[in-house]
Amino acid sequence: MLKTKDFIIMDLIDSYQHKGLRNKLVQELRAKGIHDDQVLSAIGRVPRHTFMESGFINFAYKDQAFPIGNGQTISQPFTVAVQTQLLQVEKRQKILEIGTGSGYQAAVLVEMGAKVFSIERFRELYLKSKAHLESLNYSLHLFYGDGYQGKATYGPYDRILITAAAPEIPIALIEQLKPGGRMVLPYGSGDTQVMTLIEKTMDGELLKSTHGAFAFVPMLKGTS
Ligand code: SAH
Repeated sequence: MLKTKDFIIMDLIDSYQHKGLRNKLVQELRAKGIHDDQVLSAIGRVPRHTFMESGFINFAYKDQAFPIGNGQTISQPFTVAVQTQLLQVEKRQKILEIGTGSGYQAAVLVEMGAKVFSIERFRELYLKSKAHLESLNYSLHLFYGDGYQGKATYGPYDRILITAAAPEIPIALIEQLKPGGRMVLPYGSGDTQVMTLIEKTMDGELLKSTHGAFAFVPMLKGTS
């Protein structure tokens, strides 16, 4: 009989089959218009199947969102790709993510060579993702807290990414964005939100552009 530990080890295995499915997913994302090779190759390296509750490989490399517990979801790979592409990540940049969730998006950013800081408001998800990212040897800073406040002590950031639907643009996050920085967020409180890019000029001016409709779980106030 297998012990719990064996299951954990099995879950972390990244087989040729997983890699094959992942390559197909990358091709699919390219066909859907993702052109940033750095983003695609990072997605090609992160073992998404290990970030999912069941670990069912049949689901892991489909371009779909999936439940991760606490009523939350791991974002659809296309959504992760769009947000990451809009960020224009460069190596060694400081990136603040709001909504660690499964930790998958954070892992993609670490794979791109960024210094990642990520906040999650569900204690259970924070603990689970922290343990999981450590087991995969991803090195980043994870926090349990309310992302509306950001994390001023480690800022300012080159890039800020919100991975939950923001009904408003959090002022604290705008303040923690460096001049010349970029912030990406799904903006709105309806069933769908508008992918929004905010660029802060060197003079501190804010330029806003929109990039299509997406559906995210809501960004909520406080912790749980
Ligand atoms: N980036 C995640 C996506 C998770 S879904 C991934 O790759 O799996 C969005 C996450 O945002 C959820 O886990 C939710 O709990 C979290 N969230 C919502 N409001 C938040 C807030 N105010 N502060 C921090 N996290 C928040």
